[in-house]
Amino acid sequence: MSKITPNKYVVSVPGQPQPSAKIVKKKYKVDLSLNENAFPPSQKAIDAYLKVGPVLNKYPDYTSAELRGALAEKYNLDDQRIVCTAGSEQMLSFLARGYIMPGDEVIYPRYGFLVYWFNIKMAGGIPVPVDHDDFKINVDYILDAVTDKTRMVFLDNPGNPTATYVPYNEIKKLREKLPEHILLVLDGAYADFVSTDDFDCGFDLVEKYENVVVTRTLSKLYGLSGLRIGWSYLPPDVAATVLHLKGGFNVSSPAQAAGLAAVLDDDDYAIKVRAHSQKWAEWLTKELRELGLKVTPSVCNFILVHFPEGPEAMNAADAYLKQHDINVGSVAIYKLPSSFRVTVGTESENHALINALKDYYNSAQ
Ligand SMILES: *Cc1c(COP(=O)(O)O)cnc(C)c1O
Repeated sequence: MSKITPNKYVVSVPGQPQPSAKIVKKKYKVDLSLNENAFPPSQKAIDAYLKVGPVLNKYPDYTSAELRGALAEKYNLDDQRIVCTAGSEQMLSFLARGYIMPGDEVIYPRYGFLVYWFNIKMAGGIPVPVDHDDFKINVDYILDAVTDKTRMVFLDNPGNPTATYVPYNEIKKLREKLPEHILLVLDGAYADFVSTDDFDCGFDLVEKYENVVVTRTLSKLYGLSGLRIGWSYLPPDVAATVLHLKGGFNVSSPAQAAGLAAVLDDDDYAIKVRAHSQKWAEWLTKELRELGLKVTPSVCNFILVHFPEGPEAMNAADAYLKQHDINVGSVAIYKLPSSFRVTVGTESENHALINALKDYYNSAQ
């Protein structure tokens, strides 16, 4: 037996599988499983990325200063409160490591981003999931879950995999009623997609309180998932804490360059992607409902779909889709065995999904 002992909290979560490099991972022709942008990034972002090639022998800017400056300008924020990370997931792990101590309770939505659970566990914290009302977060349930030991609340708004959101007045109420020593982390990965007036990702709260963080990403609306570039808005003390953890050159120079181009130049791109996503989320919702499926109303670039007949119906349809080279997102890990999550794809991908499901139902009859 090995004499070395790993951190018991780290190994309390399942590790990532790492098959032999020789095993080629199955790729689906239509992959709608990961909430990725249906389009390539904007040409300006691609050009900026390519320009970095000849200087890859140099380390990136340690502080992502230009990108922070551009984000501050675009959203009218204080650049010193912005911290860039390799994807916003990295910030979630920094926050967990920076603020959760063994035995602390951390509240998160039961049908919320799975990464919270992993990070809470790896910091030795106790995950406290809260229930939803029909896949919508009720902030009173979060408040009811607070105990003396609660240290943090993670809240994806809008939520993944639910694609629903909590209105801003509810978020403000939540912050007002939560005890001050509890850090509220508002994960705005999909904030860019929401266009209703009653939504706000919460930058004002970061400026007003010392205990609210907003995380954002360029992975989704800006189509840069492959580069790993996220950013967060933090109160000064929280920023100082996570800067202890940031380590070396965590955000690569291609990521900074493409991110900067995306932030500076790309409202046309963002508007196009948002409009596409809204239009096709609506279309998919209508078509799926016509097939007899239940769909949770979505404000994001993905939707949560439910099979009223139960898990077997879901599994059979999923197998049929896979046979036809279409991959949708499993939510079995959330104990939602009768549901799947599907990303809004390109026009032809969306049609491929619906046509395959229609064929499936016709052949099943
Ligand atoms: C996709 C996603 C993220 C962002 O991930 P990145 O690390 O920025 O690519 C964060 N939170 C939620 C809820 C997400 O779905």
